[in-house]
This record gives sequence, C-alpha cells and structure tokens, in this order.
Amino acid sequence: LVPRLRPFTSTIFAEMTALAVRTGAVNLGQGFPDTDGPSGMLDAARDALYGGANQYPPGPGRPELRHAIAAHRARYGLTYDPDTEVLVTAGATEAVAASLLALTEPGDEVIVIEPYYDSYAASVAMAGASRRVVSLVSEGGRFALDADAVRAAVTPRTRAILVNSPHNPTGTVFTRDELAALAAVCVEHDLIAITDEVYEHLVFDDREHLPLAGFPGMAERTVSISSAGKTFNCTGWKIGWVCSTPELVAAVKASKQFLTFVSGGPLQPAVAYALEHELDWVERLRGSLAAKRDRLSEGLAEAGFSVWPSAGTYFVCADVRPLGFADAADLAWQLPELIGVAAVPVKVFTDHPDEWNHVLRFAFCKRDEVLDEAIARLHKLA
Ligand code: PMP
Ligand code: GLN
Repeated sequence: LVPRLRPFTSTIFAEMTALAVRTGAVNLGQGFPDTDGPSGMLDAARDALYGGANQYPPGPGRPELRHAIAAHRARYGLTYDPDTEVLVTAGATEAVAASLLALTEPGDEVIVIEPYYDSYAASVAMAGASRRVVSLVSEGGRFALDADAVRAAVTPRTRAILVNSPHNPTGTVFTRDELAALAAVCVEHDLIAITDEVYEHLVFDDREHLPLAGFPGMAERTVSISSAGKTFNCTGWKIGWVCSTPELVAAVKASKQFLTFVSGGPLQPAVAYALEHELDWVERLRGSLAAKRDRLSEGLAEAGFSVWPSAGTYFVCADVRPLGFADAADLAWQLPELIGVAAVPVKVFTDHPDEWNHVLRFAFCKRDEVLDEAIARLHKLA
C-alpha cells in the first residue's frame, strides 16, 4: 500500500460492527437503521428489477431520477437543470471522492472540519491533496462552527472546503449565521465548497436544513452532495447525487465515470419514486428519529454520561468522564465485552485525538426495544 493510504487500512465502522457481531453486542456504533424504507419505494425497486432495468443506466443517471433530484432541490429554492447540473453517483461517498479527484491537484489543500466523516481524509489523500483541519468548538452546549478559524486556515494552496451539515458525528446543524459567515470566507478566498447533505431531512425540533449553495455567491462555487440512504432507510443502496453548475458537474462526471461509470440501475427509478411520492413518510421518520434521539439521550444521561444535545442526524455524542473513564476509545473497545454495547470513539474522526478523547458517538436510528436494551446495559457502567 502506498504511504499516503497507510493510515486508512480499516474503517472504525467495519471494526466496531465486527466486534459487535462477535460479542453479540447491541450495535449503536455504525449508523444504519434496523427497519426498511417506504414500501412504495421497495415495490418500485422490485418492479424495476423484473421490468428489465438491469443493464447499465445512462452515465449521468436515469433521467427520471435526475428530474426527481432537481425537483427535490427546488424545494429549497435552488434551480438545477436535470440534464447538465445533476449527476447520480454510487452514494455520497463516491460523490465526495469524485469531486476531490476532479477539483484538486496533488499539493492543493482542502479544509476539513473536525470531527470529520472518515471518508473525507481518505479521499483527500487519494487525490494527493492535503487536509487543513479546523475544529468545531463546544460552546453554549453545542458544537459551533468558527468561520474566523476557517479563514485563518486558508493559504494560497487552499482550493476547497468540505462542509457537512447536519453533522456526523456531533448531530450539529449549522445555523444560518454560521453558514453565512462560512459562505463569505468561500467567496473571499475563491474556494469551492463541497457540501455533504446526506442528513438533510433528519433535522429535529423546529430546525431547518439550509443548503450552503443558497447563500450569496455560493451557487457557482458549491458542489452539493446528498444521497437516498439516510432519507429512505436504504443505506445499502448507495444511490447518491451531485448538483452544481454545468462546469463543475462535468468535472465530477469526468472522474466518476472512471471510478464506477454507473451503479444501482434498478434502484435509481425506485429512488426517483421515493423523492416524488414518499416525503410524507420521511416527515414521519423525522418525528420518530427525534423521539429516539430523546430516548437515547435521556437514557445516556441517566446512566451517568454527560450528553451533548443532538439537533439532527442519527447520532448523539456523550462525554465519558463523569463515569470515571479518561479514554473514550479504550472504553469503546471494551464496551462490547464489558456490557454488550458498541459505540464509536469520536477521536478517530479527528487530527487532535487528545482534544476529543472523552467523546463517544452513539447511533439512535434503531427500534425502541433495541435502544431500551442498550440503555439497560449502559446502566451497568455506573
Ligand atoms: N457522509 C456522511 C456524513 C455520512 O454519515 C455517510 C454515511 N452514511 C456518508 C456520507 C455516506 O453516504 P453514502 O452511503 O450515500 O455513500
Ligand atoms: N455513515 C455511517 C456512520 O457514520 C457509516 C457508513 C460506513 O460504514 N461507512 O456510522
């Protein structure tokens, strides 16, 4: 393995899930739901499978899906031409990788906000670029984005910034003010913003997801990425997409076509169906996940953790120090054997492990009885 990929030989999700399976632990580590998506979408996939949609779809994605994606983005007041400004990808993961490969040169710098989703660091490295890391700051009970820190991280080599909101792993949803300040930095320094919006529908209470592309000066410099996995409980389908200008989409397509060319042929019409007909189902999912967030957050607090409020995503973060543990990673590796629960240490998503060593991430996208069993087991830690 070449040196620049040596830090990325395994993923924490694969390792923790394997450990959970081996020990029979309740897996609140890897974020995936344990119930299926809307039955209309599953029927549409079956119909497509038996209806002959089993050969290569068109390179940019099936037209009905590109139209559905453009119509979905229009709900935010953002207009995209389905023929030139939308590209279907193998999940958001490929969209991020293809964007970095298409838009950065070896030696360029990409700003990454930490803690960051694990594929970002690996994809920046595969592109031969280097990451400049800016930390979220724990402030007023939430993790806040400091746009001045982003500004301070920009150098003449900085080409792009990766922005994930709603944010994995912290559950932070960036506010309008935070996004406006970030947009101003992007415009000021002519940065491309690559936004990961896979949790766009999973925002709780009265919060709203605000696409960065909607801020002044951003439409022409933002590569907006999302995917069906989290919105429709189908993380294994890996249907994602990119929306941007014709120039940026053409660039991303140039690299994407030699990574996978296309994927998920019969699943594409099913996701088109879901985007068009199942957003009421998604609204119910959002309500149910907000209740699960509360259930797990309260359970963790009762078990002795100090819990950060989660405003979106599948995840809630907790401080392990009130229980007398100093190192959340050590604890995460012991928890499955010790009490039969798996969680993920947040420091593996950072370049500053000492600063994040006390934080564990728990996934609440599970059936209530699974959460209750995990909570009962976590009480044994006290
Ligand atoms: N980005 C974030 C922030 C994620 O949490 C995930 C994991 N689900 C992905 C991207 C990957 O998305 P996909 O499965 O569509 O590739
Ligand atoms: N996005 C999921 C998480 O953060 C994991 C996806 C994966 O296993 N790569 O838990």
